[in-house]
This record gives sequence, structure tokens and C-alpha cells, in this order.
Amino acid sequence: MPSIQLNTALPGPNSQALQQRRRDHVTAALGQTVPLSVRSAQGSLIHDADGNTLIDLIGGIGVLAVGHNHPDVVRAVTEQAAQSINPGMLVVNHDLYAQVAELLNAHAPGDFRKKSILANGGAEAVENAVKIARYYTGRAGIVVFEGAYHGRTNLTMGMTSKYGLFKKNMGPFASEIYRLHVPNLYRVPPGMTEQQYLDWSCDQLEFALTAYIDGPAIAAFVIEPVLGEGGIVPIPVQFLAKVREICDRVGAVMIADEIQSGSGRTGRLFAIEHSGVVPDLITVAKSLGAGLPISAVVGRAEIMDAPHLGAVGSTYGGGPLACAAAVASLRLLTDPEFLAGAGRIEASVRRVFEDVQRDVPALGDIRGLGGMMAIEFVHPGSGETKTPWPELVMEIVARSFRRGVIVMRAGLFTNAVRFLPALNIPQEQLDEALGVVADVVREVYAEHTRQPVGA
Ligand code: PLP
Repeated sequence: MPSIQLNTALPGPNSQALQQRRRDHVTAALGQTVPLSVRSAQGSLIHDADGNTLIDLIGGIGVLAVGHNHPDVVRAVTEQAAQSINPGMLVVNHDLYAQVAELLNAHAPGDFRKKSILANGGAEAVENAVKIARYYTGRAGIVVFEGAYHGRTNLTMGMTSKYGLFKKNMGPFASEIYRLHVPNLYRVPPGMTEQQYLDWSCDQLEFALTAYIDGPAIAAFVIEPVLGEGGIVPIPVQFLAKVREICDRVGAVMIADEIQSGSGRTGRLFAIEHSGVVPDLITVAKSLGAGLPISAVVGRAEIMDAPHLGAVGSTYGGGPLACAAAVASLRLLTDPEFLAGAGRIEASVRRVFEDVQRDVPALGDIRGLGGMMAIEFVHPGSGETKTPWPELVMEIVARSFRRGVIVMRAGLFTNAVRFLPALNIPQEQLDEALGVVADVVREVYAEHTRQPVGA
């Protein structure tokens, strides 16, 4: 029996009515992928306010590697709520905070002593990582990359790419932020081989040290090992290794922003582990708390210990409820059997959409790592220019929703569909949901090109 069960058209009448309350009372600036009101959720299924059941392939934007309401997480949080909700780590000690830190320190790459700080969300973790790196180095400069997303606070907005959506009319931004090129292997410039492009991208880093930035003034290079919001772009090992080499040479801190790619998402606890490159600090959030707000900076103890007493911390950061959830989720996310779900997701997405690609030349790229996948759409006649086709993606997202599957857009050009499902999604549900999206892609493409599929 299919898992998707629709009693009404989507959005149903109750979802629509609740949507009206949102329109009346919630800021219009808050984005929303689909107009669905959730009543409950379990695993990879969402039950809406009209009694419909949908399959969720985006999990709150990668927050739910262990699925909605994992029983271990619910148990841990419920038991902890009865004990103490938030005595405040800036006031007293509670051991769950140290337990989360201990687990992160033990599993983060690098054969050196590590320490961690916990915070509430991704942007706050990135802010902390930058603060700590600046303090440690006594320098101000921060290097970030094209397509990067680091958050919506003032500093992290300044570090983020995609100006129109995330930054327009909200400056001025912090100074001393330098943005450099990062290789995207789907967009190798015409006339270059992949290897030439990679070598050129690495050379650009060296060039930047002469042309745009002063190495000894740089506190940190901040890089997502797999761009998330930027379109699920895995960064080649050669480039990550080059960033590491430059950080070592100029004395900068290498920070891997793993807010989206970490917490088991790619099949390792941290995506950077696939590369063998060892950063100094890693930021992590999203699936760490299995839905509860918690983030962390983990890394070299001597860097983490550099700021003066009282220089870091927050009222709610690392509260016991979120830590209880994190301990439960980390138990799953460090289990190789559980993490194997990521490889299964990647194989399924590739299998389904490689087939679609035969009929839909607009499906330019299928890429990602483990449970972090995307399909990118370009105008088929645009040749090597690969002109983005965002309208197609918006229609695919909207129509997949109406058929009972939740996916989301991604990419600097908003022309990719992103999949961040739970790593434990049952194979039948994954097949069913990907089948729906595949049908939708074929249909929408055929309608837009007014050609029968396969013609
Ligand atoms: N860094 C990365 C790589 C992210 O993907 C995100 C959020 O998507 C953030 C930082 C910001 O996280 P938050 O929305 O929790 O502040």
C-alpha cells in the first residue's frame, strides 16, 4: 500500500484556513516551501491538518537525519523535561552539555585534543567559530566562498552568497570578509578539462593571496565541504586540501561549516571526513538535535580555549532538552549501520534520475554526497552556457507537493531540487516519493517544451 494518502486536494481546506492565520499574523518576509499545516509527523511521514499523509524528503531542511520524532529522541527529551528544562549553563553545570561535547570531540577528525561549545542554531555557531578564530589569531580577515550560506545574522549574512535573496536592503555588512571562487564541477568553463579547471581554481587561491588579501591578516577560511543552500555542490578534495595548505602556510584557522553537511548527512558524522582533510574547527547543527535547536563548534582545544573567560556563551545554548536530544541522535549518527542509509539514498536518487535524464535533457546534473542530493535544471538548448531554469524547479516543487511529496529548491540560481531525507527512510517510501518526483519532472518538462516525452 502506498504511504501517500490524500483525502483532499493539497493544500486541503484546513491547511488553507490555517495559512490565512499565518498571513494575518506572521511576517510576510518568512519564506515557506509549501502551504501545508502539519498536525503530526513520524519517521518520514507528515500528517496534515486535513488527514492527508505526505512523504517528507526535506526534513525541515536537513534537520531530521533520524526522522521525525524518533522514539529514542522523544524518550530522552520527555525524561529530561521531567528532570530540568534549563538551569542555564552560564549559571550552573549540567552534565548533558559536557556529554554532547565529549561525543563531538571524540568523533571529530584530527589526532589532537578537542573542545566544543554549544549554541542554539547554525548562524550562532558560525559566529562563535569566527569570534574564536579571531581571538586565537589576533587577526580580523575572514575568507568565504562563492555560493556559501552561513546564516542570517549580520556577520553571517555578510559571509553568505546569493545577494538578492539573503542580503538585499539589509546592509551595511561586517568588513574584512573576502569572497573567493570555489570549483563547481558541473560548471567547468568551456575549453577546460575538469582537472585543468580544478588546478585553475587552486591557482586562483594563490592569486587571491597576492591580489585581494593579505595572508597574515586572515583569521580564518570558512568553507562548506558540500555547499548546501548553494546547490548541494561537493567541493573536490584537491580544493579542500589546498585551503588546508594555505591555512597552514599563512597561519589561518580552517573552519568547515558543516551545519548542513554534518550530523551524519553524507554517511560520515562530518562530511569533511570523506576528504581526509582535517579542519581546525567544525560548525555543526541541524540534525545534531534531531529537530531541537542545538549547534556546536568543535575543534582544536588550544583554539577553543583562547578567548578570555566569559567571552562566549548564551542564555539557552546547550540547554538540557536539546542536549538530551543530541545525545540520543548522536548514538544513531555514529552507528555505521544507521549511516549506511546515506549511501542507499544517494544510489536511489542517482538510479531514478539517471533514467529520467534520458527523456529530459533539461536535467543537467545529478549530484551530491550520501543523503544530501540535488538535481539541477538548465535550458536544454543553452549548450555549454547551461542557462539555469528556475521556473521549472518551482513548478516541480509545487506539483510534487500536490502529489504528496515535499522537496525544496536550492542553488545560487534557484534551479536545483534538493533532497535531504531521513537516513532511515524505508526504501519503499523513498522509491514511492522519488517515483512521484520523477513523474512530475517528466510531465512538467513535457508541458514546458510542449513535446511528448521521449520525442
Ligand atoms: N551554515 C550552513 C552551511 C547552513 O546550511 C545553514 C542553514 O541552512 C546555516 C549556516 C545557518 O543555520 P541556522 O539557520 O540554524 O542559523
